[in-house]
Amino acid sequence: MLWDVDHTLIETRGVGRAIYDRAFPAATGRPLAKLAQISGRTELDIMRESLRINGLEPTDEAVNRLARALIQGYEDAREELGTTGRALPGAYDTLAALADDPQIYQSVLTGNLREVARIKLEVFGLDRFLDLDAGAYGDDNPERLKLVAIAQRRAAERTGTTFGNDHTVLIGDTPKDVEAGLVAGVRVVGVATGKTTVEELREAGANVVFEQLDAGVLRAALSR
Ligand SMILES: [Mg+2]
Repeated sequence: MLWDVDHTLIETRGVGRAIYDRAFPAATGRPLAKLAQISGRTELDIMRESLRINGLEPTDEAVNRLARALIQGYEDAREELGTTGRALPGAYDTLAALADDPQIYQSVLTGNLREVARIKLEVFGLDRFLDLDAGAYGDDNPERLKLVAIAQRRAAERTGTTFGNDHTVLIGDTPKDVEAGLVAGVRVVGVATGKTTVEELREAGANVVFEQLDAGVLRAALSR
């Protein structure tokens, strides 16, 4: 089971944007004048475009500096994130219920930087249910489509069990999550707790779509 993070498990409610606004000048010496479209994209991709549209060359060094500033920004904003942001309804209970099932192994597939995902999940106490040393992140590859295979390989390395496509479920809130799952050939669950509606997630091709997370409903869907 591979979980997307933003708008699937948690939402920062503006804190993520505020951290970007602070990290960008800290890393580049310039204000963030223009913001890249972020929904469903990987952080590597977003950082490169943010640098480019703000008139800076997206060299590896510039990208690394921005990544470090973002991680530090999240580290410094743990308290703000905990009070302003939230775990989405049903997220904690669903992760906990699935974690009780020895047949289910849970990690993440997210566009976030690895360390940023860890901080976001730790702040809301969700990290305990997920093997964050596996998974695939926005600093592994700029293309989300490539992340599924990376996550499957890491899960196999960590557990000694092979996770074929029939036994891999990706769950997320955007058409990009759905696309990543479909291109890889794994099962896809959509959850309409972001900006995308149930209808749109269905149209994108998700195998099952829910209004919000519910442990019982999700387990029933997974067992079919
Ligand atoms: Mg998301």
